[in-house]
Amino acid sequence: MKKFFGLFFISILVLCVNLQIASAAATPTPTFRYNLTWDIRNIYYYTDSAAQSNYGTPISNASHNWCYTGYGNSLYPATRTTNQSNAAIDFHTYSKADGNNAKTELRIFGSTTPQIANDNDWDWGRIMINDYEIGNDSSYIQGVVAHEMGHVFGLDHNDTNPNSIMCSAWAGRAVNTVQKVDNDAFNLKHP
Ligand SMILES: [Zn+2]
Repeated sequence: MKKFFGLFFISILVLCVNLQIASAAATPTPTFRYNLTWDIRNIYYYTDSAAQSNYGTPISNASHNWCYTGYGNSLYPATRTTNQSNAAIDFHTYSKADGNNAKTELRIFGSTTPQIANDNDWDWGRIMINDYEIGNDSSYIQGVVAHEMGHVFGLDHNDTNPNSIMCSAWAGRAVNTVQKVDNDAFNLKHP
C-alpha cells in the first residue's frame, strides 16, 4: 500500500511539471495595441538597390518563413515587388554605430512621421537594416529581418522567451525563424 501511494504521488508531481512546461511554451508573443491596416492576404515587399544587393536572400528567406511557418496563418504572398506603391513593407539600409541591427518605422499614408504602435494603427512598414552592426551571418540576418517584419505585422517584443523570433537580440534571442508562439500572436492579430 505504501509503495502504491508513493508511485501515485510521483506521477502527480511529474504531471504538474509537464503541465507547467506546456503552459509556459504556449504563451503567445505579446502584440501591440493597434494594427497594420494593409490586407494581410496581399502583402508584397520592396527593396531598394542596396537592400537588394546586400540582403536580398535573407529578406526573401524571412518573408518565405513568415508565409510558411509550419503552423498556419493567413499571410499571402509575402514576395517581392519592384513597384513601391504595391509594397506593405519597404527595405532600406543605413550605416551607423548605434547598437541596432535594424530599425522599423510604422508609417501611415501621406506622412513620414512614424506611428506609435500602442497609440495608432499604421498602413505600412519601413525597415532599415544597419550595415555597420548586422554582420555577415546570413541566418542571423534572416532572423533580424523576420523579427522586424513581426513588428510590422503587429507583434511586440518577447524578451523573456529566447525561443521567440520577437525576443530582442540583446535579450539573447536563440532562434532565427518564426516559432509557434510568434505564429499564434500573428493569428491573434490577423484571424
Ligand atoms: Zn524589435
